[in-house]
Parts: sequence; C-alpha cells; structure tokens
Amino acid sequence: MRKQWIRFAAAAACLVPVASWAQSSERYLSPWKTPWTYEGERGSDHWAELDPDYAACAGKEQSPIDIQDTQKSALPALKFEYQSGPINYVINNGHTIRVNYGSPDSGDFLEVGDKRYQLTQFHFHRPSEEFIHGKPYDMVVHLMHRADDGEIAGVAVLVKVGGANPAIHKLWQNMPKDEGQTEVGGLEINPADFLPGNTAAYYSYIGSQTAPPCTEGVKWFILKTPIEIASKDFKAFGKIYPHDVRPIQPRNGRVVMESD
Ligand code: ZN
Repeated sequence: MRKQWIRFAAAAACLVPVASWAQSSERYLSPWKTPWTYEGERGSDHWAELDPDYAACAGKEQSPIDIQDTQKSALPALKFEYQSGPINYVINNGHTIRVNYGSPDSGDFLEVGDKRYQLTQFHFHRPSEEFIHGKPYDMVVHLMHRADDGEIAGVAVLVKVGGANPAIHKLWQNMPKDEGQTEVGGLEINPADFLPGNTAAYYSYIGSQTAPPCTEGVKWFILKTPIEIASKDFKAFGKIYPHDVRPIQPRNGRVVMESD
C-alpha cells in the first residue's frame, strides 16, 4: 500500500514541470476547430454547412434581428452585480476583441427575476449587429452570461460615437492587432463601465449566439439607451475589425418584448 503511494507521489511529482510549463506558456488557441468568416466562401450564408456542430446556424430562432414591432409589457428589472476586478488577457479571436471571465468566483452577475447568470465574456461588434427600426448603431457591446442550468443570457449595449468611454479606451490600449492575446497582468476593468445610466428600458427576445455554433435558446436583453465612444476609439477598432457582424436573421414569428 505504502509502496504504491510512493510510486503515485513520484509520478505526480513528474507531472509538475509539465503542468507549470503548460501554465506559463498559456498560448492562445482559437475556440473554433472549423474556421469561419463573415464574408465569402466561409461567410454567414454557409456557416451551417461548414461543420455539423454549426447546424443550428440554419435554425429558426437565430440572432441578430431587426427590432421593429414589439409587445409592451412590465418586464423584470435587470440587476447588474458587476464589480471592478483584474483581467489577465485581452483577446483578438480572429473575429472580434474579447475578454473572458473564466473564474467561477469573478463575482460579476446579472439577475433577472429570480434567475441568476454569471458573466462569462464580453466582446464588440462594429456596427451593431442589432438593428433598431431598420438601422444599426455604430457599435455594440455583447455581455454574455450563463446560468447554472446552462441558459445563456446576452446583454447588448448599443454604442454611438460621441463622448469618450474611459473603460473602452483603456481596453483598446491593450487590443492585439493580430489574432492572439495580450497579457495585461491584472488590468482593472469594471464591466459596469459599459452600461448606460438607464438599464430599465430594454427589448427582450429569444434568439441565438450570433457566431458559430449559433446555439439557440439565448435570452437577449437589448438596452434601449446607448453608451458613447470617442471617434478615435471607434476608428481604432475599425482598423482591426471594420465590419464584424452577422446579417439580420428572420424573426419567424418570434415576439419581441419591450419594457414600458
Ligand atoms: Zn456578439
């Protein structure tokens, strides 16, 4: 028994250098095994054919949509429990600029009614993927969350060119120009800095992730009040991603709720 334990301990000790090597390298890996693009042969019209895992991209409840007629209703308040905390990487994943919140204890939550979702990542699109009455905004921030039961909730914050947003500016200073990630060693970011003053007014509907694998059943909350971004920051993002958007998807009878 004791001998076995010693052998096990020796084997475990051997693993240590390997584990620390893997940790220290922390090389950026694309989260997609099958490459896709917004335009061309691997563009949004072909996503569902590229990989069986992307089949949902041809589904009936896809995002984004153009928000036209809505059903006004007393919707629950969105409670944002976001706090300032260190991030380690700013990622350029080949499609957008993204920040991941991997730790289960990051302490950033969205509460809607009695449902609690944890912030998993946020990223940007230019212009906004969402259209409001036929028109996009200059950009959009997508703050993505997940509940314990696996349900995904996306908060879309529309962005228009105007005054500076210091949090976006700080992030942009560390934005990798090519696919990969910039190690930012504990850069303090508060996701609440991407929220407008008014979060009570919003649209909501059931859709999907707007990039492969286009998973459906995503609860979208589109805040009506936009935030602003400085013109120079808007242009800086455009030098990397001038148009990282999926086209508008058919609504297929889905109802869009609007807070009243
Ligand atoms: Zn997005």
